[in-house]
Amino acid sequence: GAVHMADDKAVVQQYFNTEGFDRWNRIYSEDGEVNSVQKDIRNGHQQTVDKILTWIDADANIAGQTICDAGCGVGSLALPLAMRGAKVTASDISDAMVEEAARRAQAMGGLKVQPAFSQSDLSALSGRYDTVTCVDVMIHYPTEEMAGMVRHLASLADKRLIISFAPKTWYYDLLKKVGELFPGPSKTTRAYLHPEDEVVKALEASGFTIQRTEMTGTNFYFSRLLEAVRA
Ligand code: SAM
Repeated sequence: GAVHMADDKAVVQQYFNTEGFDRWNRIYSEDGEVNSVQKDIRNGHQQTVDKILTWIDADANIAGQTICDAGCGVGSLALPLAMRGAKVTASDISDAMVEEAARRAQAMGGLKVQPAFSQSDLSALSGRYDTVTCVDVMIHYPTEEMAGMVRHLASLADKRLIISFAPKTWYYDLLKKVGELFPGPSKTTRAYLHPEDEVVKALEASGFTIQRTEMTGTNFYFSRLLEAVRA
């Protein structure tokens, strides 16, 4: 219900403003000290970002398009999109994450169009964008909440929604149960896997159809990537 959802969000927000910020800011950097598990996650996540950019570059029409990156983290996707001339609006529930994204955008220099950064729960976002992206955010919410969040993101997307999530399959479920996934003492947030058909159902209920898919799996990182377009 709504009360649990508020609790989940408060816990996630608190985590990404404190220890989660330190952990993920390091993982989402090119250098800086990380252990071998974090290095594996860094590589896996970079593969997801690269797969999205490969789609974008194949389409060759991103310049001038509006993009809403929901749960932008430190800007791992938002910044390369801005570099390509997209008009990016990037937000995150964590002030610390979105501040770091803005700092990285400044430090990069040479962006023709500066992204607009703000702190926001994705469920509070409004407006309309050509493309909405939401990468590796749904892992923080149970499937019942995921569906409503996906429908809300879809309502913001004029043409396309790109979303990634940890897929719930018997294999990943087993790994999670035996503790092979999400190991380590600093992993304090809960992780939720989602059945792909539940994500697709939420997209289809919003008038979208799946156009392209990808899957990235390393030892400790796994993410299913869907591109959905208005049917
Ligand atoms: N999308 C980024 C990327 O792929 O580099 C960050 C992924 S990180 C695993 C998850 C991010 O989602 C965190 O920055 C967290 O603060 C953010 N987040 C979690 N719940 C959110 C919500 N309800 N609304 C907006 N952002 C949220």
